[in-house]
Amino acid sequence: MNWREYVRNVTPYVPGEQPKIDNLIKLNTNENPYSPSPVVKDELIKLAEDYDCLRRYPKPDCDALRDALSEYMGISPDKVFTGVGSDDVICTIFSTFFHSSLPVLFADITYSFYEVWAEYVGFPKELIPVKDDLSIDINDYRRENGGIVIANPNAPTGLALPLSKIEEILSFNKDSIVIVDEAYIDFGGESAVKLIDKYDNLIVTQTYSKSRNLAGLRIGMAFASPELISKIKAIKFSINSYTMNEPSLRLASAVLKDEKYFRECCEKVIKTREWSTEEFKKLGFEFPESSSNFVFVSHPKVNANDIYKALRERGILVRHFSIPRIDNYLRISIGTDDEMKALFSALNEIIK
Ligand SMILES: *Cc1c(COP(=O)(O)O)cnc(C)c1O
Repeated sequence: MNWREYVRNVTPYVPGEQPKIDNLIKLNTNENPYSPSPVVKDELIKLAEDYDCLRRYPKPDCDALRDALSEYMGISPDKVFTGVGSDDVICTIFSTFFHSSLPVLFADITYSFYEVWAEYVGFPKELIPVKDDLSIDINDYRRENGGIVIANPNAPTGLALPLSKIEEILSFNKDSIVIVDEAYIDFGGESAVKLIDKYDNLIVTQTYSKSRNLAGLRIGMAFASPELISKIKAIKFSINSYTMNEPSLRLASAVLKDEKYFRECCEKVIKTREWSTEEFKKLGFEFPESSSNFVFVSHPKVNANDIYKALRERGILVRHFSIPRIDNYLRISIGTDDEMKALFSALNEIIK
C-alpha cells in the first residue's frame, strides 16, 4: 500500500493576501476599516488581571457567548450555535447535514469556500448560474436537491435578495436544509433570523469578522431551531469540543453591549459606500448595487487584472478573481474616506 493512493486531495480555498507592505491600503478582504469597539480594550485589560482563567478549558458549550447572543437577538439559547468564524460554523453545518446523493445547490458566483467544503465533506453539488446581471433567480432553486446555500447579501457581487424571496426558497424546499449566510447583513438587506421559528429547515449564519470589526478574533454563529442546533453541536462535540478560546468568548460577549459603536461603524461604511459608488460611476465603472461593505466593479475599457496590478504598484490592494464570468471584475472593500480618496486618485490615473 502507498499512502498517496489514500490521501484526501482537495483544492484549497485561496484567501486574500495579507502582505507586509508599509502604508498599504488594504481593500482586498472586506475587513472593517475601523478599530474594534473600545469595550474590547477594557475587556482585554480585565482578562490580563484574570489571566489565571486561561489555565482552565473554556466552556465547550460557549455558554457565556451563547447566552449573550441569545439575549441580544431575543431568541432562546438553544437556537444559538457559535464557532471559530462563520467558516468553521458553515463547514460544521455542511458536514452535519449534507449526506444525501442529491446535489446541494448554490450559485456559481458566490463565496468560493462552499465548493471547497463540498469537496472536503464529499457531497455532490450543483452550481446554479447567476443571471447576466449577476443576480440570483430564486426559480432556479425549485428542483430536487440535497440542501441549499445562499449568501445574502451575496459575495462577491454584493447583491441582496429581499426576505420575501428567501421565504419563497424556504417554502419550496421544506424538506431540505437551507443555509442563509449573512456575513454582510449589517450593511444592507433584511435578516432571515426572524424566520427561524416559522421554518424548521432554516439555518442563518453570521460573523463578527465584517460588521463587528473583529476578524482577528474568529467568531461566527448560527441561528436555527433547537433540533438543528443540537445536530450541529453533536458533530462539533465529536471533533473538538473546545474550538473557541476563552479570550474570544469573553471579548465577543462584551462587545454586544456596545450597540452604539457598532451602529456608528456600519453607518460610516454605508455612507462611504454610497459616495464611492458615485465616484466609480464617474470613472465609467459598472457594478451591481451593493448591500455589503464592498463593491464589485468592472470597467468597459480597462481590463480588471491590469487595474489590479496598477493599484498594487501604488500600494493599494483589491481582490481580483481568475474565475470565468467574473475575471473582468474587481472586488473592492470599503475603507475609510481617506483610503477611498487615495483609491480614486489612483484609479483616475490608471483609467486615463
Ligand atoms: C467573510 C465571509 C465568511 C466567513 O467569515 P468568518 O471570518 O469565517 O466569520 C462567510 N461567508 C461569506 C460570504 C464571507 O464573505
